Amino acid sequence: MRHDTMYERHAPPDAALDAALADTRLGAYWLDDAAPQRVRRPALSGERTTDLAIIGGGFTGLWTALHAKRRDPDRRVMILEARRVAWAASGRNGGWIDYSLTHGEENGLARWPDEFETLQRLGYDNLDGYEHDLAEHGIDADFARVGALHVAVEAHQVPWLSELETREQTTLDAEAARARINAPGILGAIHETGRMVATAHPAKLAYGLAAAAERLGVEILERSRVRGLDTTSPGEVVLRLDDGRVRAHQVVLATNAFPALLRRNRRMTVPVYDYAIMTEPLPTDVRAAIGWQGREAVGDLSSLFHYSQITPEGRILWGGYDAVYIPGGRIRRAHEDDPALHRKLVSHLYAFLPQLAEAGVRITHRWAGVIDTSTRFAVFTGLAKQGRIAYAAGYTGLGVGTARFAAEVMLDRLAGLTTERTELRMMRTRGVPFPPEPAATIGIGLSRWSMAAADHHEGRRGAFLRAMDALGLGFDS
Ligand SMILES: Cc1cc2nc3c(=O)[nH]c(=O)nc-3n(C[C@H](O)[C@H](O)[C@H](O)COP(=O)(O)OP(=O)(O)OC[C@H]3O[C@@H](n4cnc5c(N)ncnc54)[C@H](O)[C@@H]3O)c2cc1C
Repeated sequence: MRHDTMYERHAPPDAALDAALADTRLGAYWLDDAAPQRVRRPALSGERTTDLAIIGGGFTGLWTALHAKRRDPDRRVMILEARRVAWAASGRNGGWIDYSLTHGEENGLARWPDEFETLQRLGYDNLDGYEHDLAEHGIDADFARVGALHVAVEAHQVPWLSELETREQTTLDAEAARARINAPGILGAIHETGRMVATAHPAKLAYGLAAAAERLGVEILERSRVRGLDTTSPGEVVLRLDDGRVRAHQVVLATNAFPALLRRNRRMTVPVYDYAIMTEPLPTDVRAAIGWQGREAVGDLSSLFHYSQITPEGRILWGGYDAVYIPGGRIRRAHEDDPALHRKLVSHLYAFLPQLAEAGVRITHRWAGVIDTSTRFAVFTGLAKQGRIAYAAGYTGLGVGTARFAAEVMLDRLAGLTTERTELRMMRTRGVPFPPEPAATIGIGLSRWSMAAADHHEGRRGAFLRAMDALGLGFDS
């Protein structure tokens, strides 16, 4: 029998939503907040040569540049970014930095059971390395190893907690979970420690990485969209841009959800819009009522899940739930403006934390960004054109931490090294492509519909989702 979710049962009145959204800006809070740190960089013009050209100025490109220079300070490294550093997913995300390289343990165990222990260890090392790198380069990005709470908000989710628990995680009952964050709808939680999850200010993080890379000698060019690759001359790749060309000895593709420059990658990912909102800083009495002093990252266990963090100054970010695929995989600024979807997010946040509605806490920002969804929900990497081009994509909404790991894998590969990382089956395989249109739109639409249906039927996955699970295929954000 269909039931309403907690978010629907406790929906606030329309007037409260109208008031919350009365003065909300369309745009990513992080990019606004870090605007004073934004640097304007030149665009490419004319003919240039370089040792390593990195296409894309998000986390994947930035980590690759930083580590390339660390490995070989004399190497010439250039980043070519179509718009501005971190304007895309890297400047708009939830700021949740997860140790997991496999998009969670369930996905990792199901797909790579034989090497799961190794993947876990490498994931922990990656998060430790992240913290170490930020300290070494003096990057102040509000990085904090706050841990996470995966909260049950429906009765049917409570038994899942003990099933999900592993050595590193503890189950909290409703009282213990609410002692951390006083949300009346929480019925229990899995707690992950700071060894597993950190949070940060994504734009400060990206700008800090860009500045650190530049200090090491990396050249970053903005408003420099690469239109195509020419690999006909031996030993080099020629990148075609509107106002010039770059001859590169090696190339890294860090273009995430945007149209792939290699034909083989065109159907490996689909761009999916994910939506988020940010509140004003909470008044002191509201903060006191909510608690959340540990500032844990929070996510719920619904199929269409929400994620959240609270910033050091006490703003709440709330995102997720609906993930929207535009037929044909189109990426357009207009798709970021979905008032109904943003309103639903506010409604769900107020249902989760009714103290916000009671106090009339306002939403200052609403935005969206594209996620590079792959059918295996986790990054894939590869080499192309006789080892001259490396690529990484497919993070499926959990790429802030893994981008650093993928950068290392690509650099190992380009250097011709055989390492523990390059030998992972996860890194040697790519997963299954999405079908061509219109099948992609139909399949993704059915998945999304089925996930919503599962949330309204005690979490029971219908025949379509079970078939997708059995095939190891799926759709997630
Ligand atoms: C709303 C939202 C919330 C998210 N929350 C989280 C989270 O909490 N935790 C987490 O781990 N992940 C999260 N993610 C995902 C995470 O942000 C991404 O996985 C990560 O930022 C990917 O980094 P990237 O560098 O690969 O891609 P991007 O940041 O998308 O950068 C790719 C860059 O490539 C450039 N580019 C593309 N094509 C070209 C070309 N032809 N020439 C030149 N430049 C080009 C683009 O302009 C872009 O700047 C979220 C994503 C979104 C959208």
